[in-house]
Amino acid sequence: MGERIYRTEALILRRSDAGEADRVMLLATPGGKRRVVARGVRKTTSKLAGHLELFTRVGLLLAIGRTFDVITQSEIRDSYATLRAELPRLSCAYYAAELYDCFSQEDDEHPEIYALLAQTFTALDRSANPDLALRWYELRLLHLTGYRPQLHYCIVCQEALTEAASRFSPSLGGVLCPEHESADRAALTMSGPAFRLLRYLQSQPLAVVESLRLSPAVRSEAESLLRAYLRRLLERDLRSVAFLDEAMRIE
Ligand SMILES: [Zn+2]
Repeated sequence: MGERIYRTEALILRRSDAGEADRVMLLATPGGKRRVVARGVRKTTSKLAGHLELFTRVGLLLAIGRTFDVITQSEIRDSYATLRAELPRLSCAYYAAELYDCFSQEDDEHPEIYALLAQTFTALDRSANPDLALRWYELRLLHLTGYRPQLHYCIVCQEALTEAASRFSPSLGGVLCPEHESADRAALTMSGPAFRLLRYLQSQPLAVVESLRLSPAVRSEAESLLRAYLRRLLERDLRSVAFLDEAMRIE
């Protein structure tokens, strides 16, 4: 009876100690979110240990196990050295990973979401504007998981929105035209530049977004609007948000 093995690429999103010397790892893979185990990896003699760092992209060989599949080989494909060395970038990676965890199911095959997360890690490692890369990631992830906020048509009357629109409704999931502002009394005020930025982030590729020159106030406003929407969807704040706020302020 042959052992069943398979290969996959993965991003390592979380690691926790288990047993005497094992580690359970949360992975993002093209085949979905997956929990696997690395046996004996906390021993100094482990050959695997140096190839399973948090927030690296790896090629894995796994054996199918009863509870968890078991990592038998690992090779690093991208170590994202800057991302892991700089605290603000690292905090972005924690946040991106937690958001992925919230919006994906175990073993739910979704290569596009995996590719998005890998692309985002690359940007968080190299971009001059990791915060914009994170905003772009949030909107792409919302789109791919069916929660795309409506930024082009009034969420109440479906009329095309103009620059006069200035209310974003987290609970209705989009922007209100001036006539329907009162449809959600808890809707947030949104400036013209923040509205334009959100629409831009939703429609443009990352390379274009990264090169934008924007005031800190506009960036911060776009962050607050998206955070309010995500909080509404998830019914809570992510654990990594406090760390993100702290680390990005130090920068
Ligand atoms: Zn309307």
